[in-house]
Order: sequence, then structure tokens, then C-alpha cells
Amino acid sequence: MTLRGRLTTAFLVVVLGPVLFGSIFVATTVATVSQDRADERLDHAATTVRTGIGAVCRQLQTAADAVAVVPPGDRAAVANQLVARGLASDIRIAGETPPAPPGTRMSDTDGWQDCANPADGPAAAITATATSGPLTVVAAQLIDDAFLDRLAASSGAQITLDGPETPENRRLGVESGQPLPLTLTVPRSKPTFLYAVLLAVVLSAGLVAVLVARWLAHSTTRPLGELAVAADLVAGGDLDTRVPIPRPDELGRLASTFNRMTRELQAYVQALTASRDQLRGHLAILGETLSSTHDVDRILHVILRTALAATGARAGLVLLLDPTGRHLVARCAVGLTGDWDVPEADLAKLRLPVGSGVLGAVAAGNEARRGQGEVGSAEPPCRTYVAVPICAPATVDDPLVPDNGPATLGVLALYDRVGGDEFDEGDLHTLRTFAGQAGVAVHNVRVHEEAQRLSLTDPLTGLWNYRYLRESLRREVERANRFGRMLAVLVLDLDHFKEVNDTYGHAAGDAVLGEFARRIRVGLREVDVAFRQGGEEFVVLLPETDAYGGAIVAERLGAAVRARPVPIEPRRPGQPDRIPVTVSIGVAVFPEHGADAQQVLHAADDALYAAKRAGRDTYRLAEMSSGVPEVNFGPTGNAAGGPQPPRQTRGR
Ligand code: GH3
Ligand code: MG
Ligand code: MG
Repeated sequence: MTLRGRLTTAFLVVVLGPVLFGSIFVATTVATVSQDRADERLDHAATTVRTGIGAVCRQLQTAADAVAVVPPGDRAAVANQLVARGLASDIRIAGETPPAPPGTRMSDTDGWQDCANPADGPAAAITATATSGPLTVVAAQLIDDAFLDRLAASSGAQITLDGPETPENRRLGVESGQPLPLTLTVPRSKPTFLYAVLLAVVLSAGLVAVLVARWLAHSTTRPLGELAVAADLVAGGDLDTRVPIPRPDELGRLASTFNRMTRELQAYVQALTASRDQLRGHLAILGETLSSTHDVDRILHVILRTALAATGARAGLVLLLDPTGRHLVARCAVGLTGDWDVPEADLAKLRLPVGSGVLGAVAAGNEARRGQGEVGSAEPPCRTYVAVPICAPATVDDPLVPDNGPATLGVLALYDRVGGDEFDEGDLHTLRTFAGQAGVAVHNVRVHEEAQRLSLTDPLTGLWNYRYLRESLRREVERANRFGRMLAVLVLDLDHFKEVNDTYGHAAGDAVLGEFARRIRVGLREVDVAFRQGGEEFVVLLPETDAYGGAIVAERLGAAVRARPVPIEPRRPGQPDRIPVTVSIGVAVFPEHGADAQQVLHAADDALYAAKRAGRDTYRLAEMSSGVPEVNFGPTGNAAGGPQPPRQTRGR
């Protein structure tokens, strides 16, 4: 049953119930009153009838008595006179001598009932008897329609003689003084009109009630129906739906609350959609960045931006542990204020000790933190914060190591969620996800860098290997060419190194190679790069260095090698624990000695052979390539003009 049906029914029950009950009560009361009135009238009529018949009996008795007391000769005349006057219908005299003439008015005495001593049976007349000795005088009153009509007229009831008894009439029993079996009926006033009025009232009330109930139910349920339809539409995703506000009553309030709720839902969904789109964009950039670059700072920046978009934070910061593991160094920051609002280039100057403050504690304890208020004066100012450790992914290849947990790489922190709320568990979870990605990314980049370093370095000496030499030489030549600078290339070869191996063993040879490499590194500027080309041959690139500078470096390196014999572990007792070593060096300069990387390297090689030929433990400058002015120097006679290099040395 619908709400409208229930409301209509309830209204009809409430309204029509009392009307029906009232009508039934009124009808019942009216019927009862009418019955009572009929009974009263019957009582009254019965009393009147009894009184009337009693009077007739007394009148008959008087007449009989009067006839009985007059002299015998007058009796008949008196009787006739009394009958003539209507005091009796007939008077009969018996027991008289001579007998009185029989009454002439009534033919026989069948059905005569004596007033004083009536008997059951037909009642054609009522009589009264007077006796005096043998004399009996009977005065009779004929019970005919006229008599009954008179009785009816005086009593107000309809009177029949010996009629059947029904609930609607009253039968008067035969008794002394009332010898007639009479049935009294009073006309009953039937309240038909009243009933009709009542019925009309009830029907009208019912009709009005039905109409009012329908109107009420309709006006109550229509807004509810509209609300239900609107709610259906909203549930189906149509957030533009609004309902009309009918009146400022409860339903009106409900409608306006529904509209407000839908409006806010719509705004919320729009904000959510916008932030989802933004997040999608960030995630796309994140995915692309993670897959396309090994630039840690760029990756961290994108991760930070995505985390900010995902959590709605105002500012964020990523710090990574420095190589000592004792400090966190800022690597990228967004939206920070105060001392932390610095240009990107200066970010690395912002350092925090591990173990102190919120961020230091997160790094030290490898545990996330969130909260609000003070985070320590050294840290970015904020109202709320959430910080999680960035960890390298746990290695799973060594299950025997119990503490094989993730190593902390840094900290990812967000500040001041937009809206002022504190960061919740959901934000913490989200941030952990991003920190996990950052950890994987940083770890991958480092693994990649390490792999690259391993593939490009020589494990014995730690110098760059031949592969990297080719790449670096090409790059440096290009750069020198682009900026119109010079590049000096030194090729170094240990002298008689085979003998070192042969005499002291391969291990000693390795030790010599390692120490030689160390001395090269120590003797170079930061921008200079040293390579092991293979065996005991090395190359040094000196950017922005001319032949003069190259010669100075060659001289210095030769001296550094020559100066101190290399200490070794003696293989046999009595063997020396130091090996004297010398090096021969060829020097060539771009663009003087070659137009490209290959040519310059060849020129330097040639110069090296020249040095070897010159007796070793010396350096030589390359021959001038064609078209380029000769700038060689040196005591071996290949220097001609240009700046004066230091004198080439030879042996000790
Ligand atoms: P020169 O003065 O003409 O350069 O004579 P050299 O003996 O140095 O030249 P050579 O090219 O004949 O010998 C190079 C030796 O270097 C041969 C090889 O045994 C040795 N060698 C090459 N690589 C290594 C290495 O990695 N470790 C050791 N211990 N020896 C090496
Ligand atoms: Mg060699
Ligand atoms: Mg050699």
C-alpha cells in the first residue's frame, strides 16, 4: 500500500469513524425515544380505555340499579327511557311477575360479558346486573364500531376487539371492570426523515472526507514523490537535479536541505574530479619520468608534486641522506616558507642532522610521523605535517640475513594540508606509497650509476677504462671545439713493465699499476680525467690546456713516479720491497696535433713512442699536424718556437 493510500485511509478512519459512530448513536437514540413514546402513548391509551369502560360499567350498573328499584309497573318504561337517553343499549328485566316484555334492541344475549364477572369469549356487549329478590335487571352496552370509535377517539389509540397481539400494540386482558379483550394500537411516528437526513449527512461527510483526504494525501505525498524521483536521479548520477520548494514547512525544509545536499555533493564531485584529473596528469608525468630518466632530482620533484596533488598539501620537501649517513640534505622542495624558501641551486645547503627534530627522527627511526604544531626551529615552519622515510627496496636474495630490512635513503615530508585538517592515516598511506616509489627510483638510479661506473671503470686502478676514454675524449674534443678551447691529451706507458712482472711477480706488477694510478690522480686538477687504456698504458685528458700546460703536467707526473719507488710485498726473502718505476709520456693537443679525437690520440701515441725511442722516462710533444703551426718543444729537438716548456727529463 502506498503512502498516499495509507494517509487517505488514516484520514478517512479518523474523520469518518466518529461521524459513523455518531450517526449510529443518534439513529439508535431516535429509535429508542420513538419506541418509548409509543409505549407511553399506549400506556396512556390503555388507562383511558380502562377508565372509559369502567365508567360505562358504572353507568350500566346505575341504570340497572335504577330500573330494579322503581315500582314494577314503571320498570319497563324507565328502562326504555334510560335506553332512549343512551345510558344503555338494552335493559332486560327477568324474574318479575308478570314478566317484563323482553328488550327489543338487542336480539340475543350471546357474547354478553358481565362487567363484574367477565369470562373469556366473544364480547358483543358489556353488561351490569342488579338483582332484587327474584328480580334481575341487566343493563347492556352494545360493543359496536361506534363504541370502539368513541373509545379510540377518547384514548387516541386505534382499538380493535380481540385483535392479535404484536410487538407494536397492547392487548388489554379481560378483568373485572374491563370485560373487553381489546387491542390498542397507536400510530408510530417513523423517523424516516431523520434517518434520511442522517444518511445524507454521513454520505456528504464521507464524500467531503474522501475529497479532503485525497487532497491532503496528494499535497503531502506529491513533494515526497518529487523528492523520491529527484533522489533517484541523483543516485543515477544526475547531480543537476533540484526539487521545487513548495512551502516553508517541514517538506519545504526537507526539499531545501535536499537541494543544498545535492549542490554540495556536486561541488564535492567536481572538486574530486578536478583533483582526480590533476592526479592523473601527475601520475602520467610520474610514470613517464620514472621510465625515461635517471635524473634523481627530476624524479624526486615529480614524485613530490604528485604526492602534493594526491594529498592536497600546501608544501613538501624531499631530503636524502648524505654519503656519511649523518645528515639529511634537501634535494627538492615545493611551497616552503621562511628559511627554507631558497632557490633550487641552494637547496643542498639545507642540511639536518639525523636523529634530531621530526625529519631527523623519521630518518633515524625509519618510522613515519604525522602531527601538528612545532616541528623544531631548524625545520620548515608549518601547522600540520606528515613525514615518511624513503627506503631502498628490501633485498630478498639473502634470506639468511635477519636485518635485511630496507635501508633509509631519505625522508619525504608534506606540510599544511589545504583546508587546515590534520593529515590522516589515508594521507600517511598515500605518502608511504610515493615514498616507496621514490625509494625504488633513487635506488634504481644509484644501482644504474654504480653499474655504469663499474662498466666504465677499471677495477684494478679505479680509473676510467678505455670505453669511457673514447666517449670522454670525443665529448671533450667537441666541447673544446665548440668553445674554441684547447685540450691536452697525455698518453703514459710504464717503462720496462714486463720486467717488473717477470722479476717481482704479477701481484707486484698490479701493486705498481695501482700506485701509479694513484699518483696520476693526485697530480691532476679536478677537471682533469685519467683513464687506464689497457695494460700499463694510461691516458690523461687536460681540458683547456695547451701544449705548454700539457708539458708541465707530463713533467710533474714523470717526476712523481720517478721520485719514490713503489713499495711491494717481497715474494722471496732478500728481494727488495720497493720497485723503482719510470714512465714515458706522449703529449698532444687539440686542435694543434689533430683535428679530431682519433687524430689527437694518435698524435699523443706517436709522441709516446718518440719518448720511448728517446730512452724512456721522459715525455715528448706530438709532431705538428699538417697546416697547423708546430708547437713542439723539448731537448730532443722537436720543439720549435711557441711557449717554452719545462725541460724533458730522462732517467735518474
Ligand atoms: P716498454 O718500456 O717498451 O713499454 O716495455 P714494457 O715491458 O713496459 O712493454 P711491454 O708492452 O712489452 O710489456 C707490457 C707488460 O705489461 C706486458 C704485461 O705482462 C704487463 N701487463 C699488462 N697488463 C698487466 C696487468 O694488469 N697487471 C700486471 N701485473 N701486468 C700487466
Ligand atoms: Mg706498453
Ligand atoms: Mg711499457
